[in-house]
Amino acid sequence: MKRLLLLAAAVAAFAAQAQSFPGSKPITIVVPFSAGGPTDRVARDLAEAMRKPLGGVTLVVDNAAGAGGSIGANKVAKASADGHTLLLHHIGMATMPTLVRNLPFKVESDFEYLGMVNDVPMTLIGRPSLPANNYKELSAWINENKGKINLGNAGIGAASHLCGLMFQNALKVDMTTVPYKGTAPAITDLIGGQIDLLCDQTTNTTSQIEGKKVKAFAVTTAKRLTTPALKDLPTLNEAGLKGFEVTIWHGLYAPKGTPADVVAKLNAALKAALKDPDFIKKQEGLGAVVVNDKRVEPAEHKKFVAAEIAKWSPVLKAAGVYAD
Ligand code: ASP
Repeated sequence: MKRLLLLAAAVAAFAAQAQSFPGSKPITIVVPFSAGGPTDRVARDLAEAMRKPLGGVTLVVDNAAGAGGSIGANKVAKASADGHTLLLHHIGMATMPTLVRNLPFKVESDFEYLGMVNDVPMTLIGRPSLPANNYKELSAWINENKGKINLGNAGIGAASHLCGLMFQNALKVDMTTVPYKGTAPAITDLIGGQIDLLCDQTTNTTSQIEGKKVKAFAVTTAKRLTTPALKDLPTLNEAGLKGFEVTIWHGLYAPKGTPADVVAKLNAALKAALKDPDFIKKQEGLGAVVVNDKRVEPAEHKKFVAAEIAKWSPVLKAAGVYAD
């Protein structure tokens, strides 16, 4: 009897917790890259857009940067599964399982998938002092400077790493890669001329291109973009790298074991945010496309990530780059 009562009390407490979620305790969105960078930008806009649908709760962003995004992801995989610690991560969720040998968590089984957020094109940009003003000139400069070119990235597993790898493979040119904790510090060094090239998400590069702080050479998508600052850039495919296409995406995750009611509430808040005209406008202004399809459903999000792992794994294995 006593046992039954205890069980009933536990069930009631659990139900009350789910009912009251999020309550007044803030929600932390972990971004596995530096502050001020492209994923951070998406997270901060998303935090703002999810606040109202979650009853006005405070959402804060925690930049747990390093190791190409695996430090932040691991932090969330090990966090308490109460819905108050979430992860915003990108295509790295699909590249890390192949690229990082001793990944301390499992992408497919250590998280609750909450839905996808956006698709983001990337741009190939260069330091302002680079003596090339379009892709053709860049291509000639690369040929003349083989062995001397520095390419920044946000570590093995980052989107900039993936894009840079694809770029070097397509050109059959090896560059010296310089890893940072995010592309925010990488772009600062690019502007300062410490590195030559960077392939980075439009959520970080659009304003720098607009302000002419960096040189922009191409976009990585299959089609040209419509964002005013980016619409004149050729695709790498049309510039001669046949079949080149890298578009990255972001999704939202909670630790495995987060109660189903809490997952449902977070998913509903995410869906509301994705319909928020303000959020859509901000993202579009940065060249990103807010997800408006079945990938907002947790099960579809999970399927999509599994398909991306299957898509990129052979490409990355062929490139033979690993981190421990
Ligand atoms: N998303 C990373 C950042 O926010 C950059 C990358 O993945 O390349 O810095």
